[in-house]
Amino acid sequence: VNGPRDSGKPREDKLLGGLLTEEFDEGSCLSRYQSSLYRKPSLYQPSHYLVSKLRSYEMLHKRCGPGTEAFKRAAEQLGHDPRSAGECRYIVWVAAYGLGNRILSLVSAFLYALLTERVLLVDQRTDITHLFCEPFPGTSWLLPLDSPLMGQLDSSRCYGTMVKTHAINSTIRTTPSYLSLYLMHDYEDHDKMFFCERDQNLIRQVSWLVFNSNMYSVPSLWMIPSFQTELIKLFPKKDTVFHHLGRYLLHPTNQVWGLITRFYNAYLSRADETLGVQVRVLTNPAGYLEHVMNQILECTKREKLLPEVAATNNTSTSPKLKAVLVTSLYPEYSEKLRNMYWESPSSTGEMVQVHQPSQEMYQQTDEKLHDQKAFAEMYLLSLTDKLVTSGLSTFGYVAQGLGGLKAWILYRPTNHSTPDPPCVKAVSMEPCFHRPPPLYGCQAETVNSSTRFVTRCEEWITGIKLV
Ligand code: GDP
Repeated sequence: VNGPRDSGKPREDKLLGGLLTEEFDEGSCLSRYQSSLYRKPSLYQPSHYLVSKLRSYEMLHKRCGPGTEAFKRAAEQLGHDPRSAGECRYIVWVAAYGLGNRILSLVSAFLYALLTERVLLVDQRTDITHLFCEPFPGTSWLLPLDSPLMGQLDSSRCYGTMVKTHAINSTIRTTPSYLSLYLMHDYEDHDKMFFCERDQNLIRQVSWLVFNSNMYSVPSLWMIPSFQTELIKLFPKKDTVFHHLGRYLLHPTNQVWGLITRFYNAYLSRADETLGVQVRVLTNPAGYLEHVMNQILECTKREKLLPEVAATNNTSTSPKLKAVLVTSLYPEYSEKLRNMYWESPSSTGEMVQVHQPSQEMYQQTDEKLHDQKAFAEMYLLSLTDKLVTSGLSTFGYVAQGLGGLKAWILYRPTNHSTPDPPCVKAVSMEPCFHRPPPLYGCQAETVNSSTRFVTRCEEWITGIKLV
C-alpha cells in the first residue's frame, strides 16, 4: 500500500505495540500517534516488561518532575547535605556535538535513567524544544532555566577527575549532592570507571547527575553485572534497544513533522520501493569526492540496491517506480545519480527518481531550521525500505535504528580511494559505541558471559555494538 495508510488502524499499531501511552493529546504532537501511518509496522515487538517499565517510569517522572514538591526539595538539597536526599534522583542530559551524537547520548541517558530509577531531564538551552515533543505525559523533561543546577552543567565536579584526585571514595560522608559524568569520545581511564559495578554503587547515592556525552554508551551498560539481568528482561532481543527507546522518546515537533510529511507525500509515497542513501563525508577536505561517488555506485550495484544503466531501452509494460532519497550536505551526489538515470535507461526498466531534501553545505548545529532539517532527514531515511549509510556517522545510526533497518554501511575511504569492498551489511540495527572502555577492565569476571551480547562494529573494529 502506498502513502500514509488508513488511520482506522488497530490501536496497538498506533501505540507501537504498547510502547506509547495513550495519555497525550494528539494535536500538540501530531507525529506521536501518526508515525504508524508512515512507518511500516515494526518487525520487533517491545517486551511486556519494557512496556510496564516505561509506564512506571512515567509515573516516577510525574511524581518527581519539575513543578512537584519532590522536585523543589531535591533542588534545594543541591549543594547541601546529601544524606537529606529525598525520594527522587535525577540525571540531566547536556547536548554535545551534532544532532546524531546528541540523539545517541540522549537515548543512552534515558536507558541509564530507566535502569537506575532516575528522572531524565534535558538542558533546554539548545534547540531541543524545536526538535522533540515532550515524551512523558503530564509533566516536562525540561530542566527549568532557573534551576540551581543550571550553572553547574559544565564538567565541574567531574566523576573521573574526582576519582583520579581521590576527592571521592566510597564513604557516604564525601558523597556530593551532584556529580557530572564525562563520557565524551576523548574521555580518560578514570572517566571510564563509570562502567564499573563498584563505581555504580557509589554513583547511585548521588541525587543529581549531569550527563555529558556524545556517544552511544548502551553496549557497555550491558557489561555491568547488576544491569545485565534487568537488560535481558527488558530487551530479550538485544539489538532492539535503540529501535524501541528511540521510537518511544523521539517525537518530531509539529514543525519538523511538517517537513517530514510534506516531503514524504510529495516524493516518496507513490514509489513501489524506496532506497535511502546517506552521504556523510568525514574526511578533510570534505565535499564532493569522486571516489565517494564511485563507492556509492559500486555498493548499490554489487548489493543490487539500484539497477544498472543500459544502452538500450528495456520495454517493460508496467515499470516499477523506485524513489531514492539522498541526504547529504552537498548537492553533487544526488545530481550525478539523477542525471545517470535520465541520460540512460535502467537495465530493469525501473523508473528511478532521485530526491534530496536539503543541501546545507556545512554543519550549522544549533541553527534552528538547520537542525530541524537534519532531524527530518534522519527520520525520512528511517522510512525507506532499504538504506545505505556512511560508516561512523551517528546521523546514519539514528536513521537505521528508528527504521529498524540493517543498513549497508559504506566503509570510510582511506588514501582518497574507493574501498573494496565498498560497503558491508550491518549485523544489527544498533548504533556503534565508538570508544568503549576496555572489555577486560573492571568486570573481567563477567566478560565471558557478556561478550555474547556485543560484537565489533562492522566499520570500526575498536567499537562495539549489540547484536
Ligand atoms: P555525524 O557527525 O555524521 O556523526 O552526525 P551528527 O548528526 O552528529 O553531526 C552532523 C551534522 O551535520 C548534522 O547533525 C547536521 O547538522 C549536519 N549534516 C550532516 N549531514 C547532513 C545531511 O545529510 N542533511 C542535513 N540536513 N544535515 C546534515
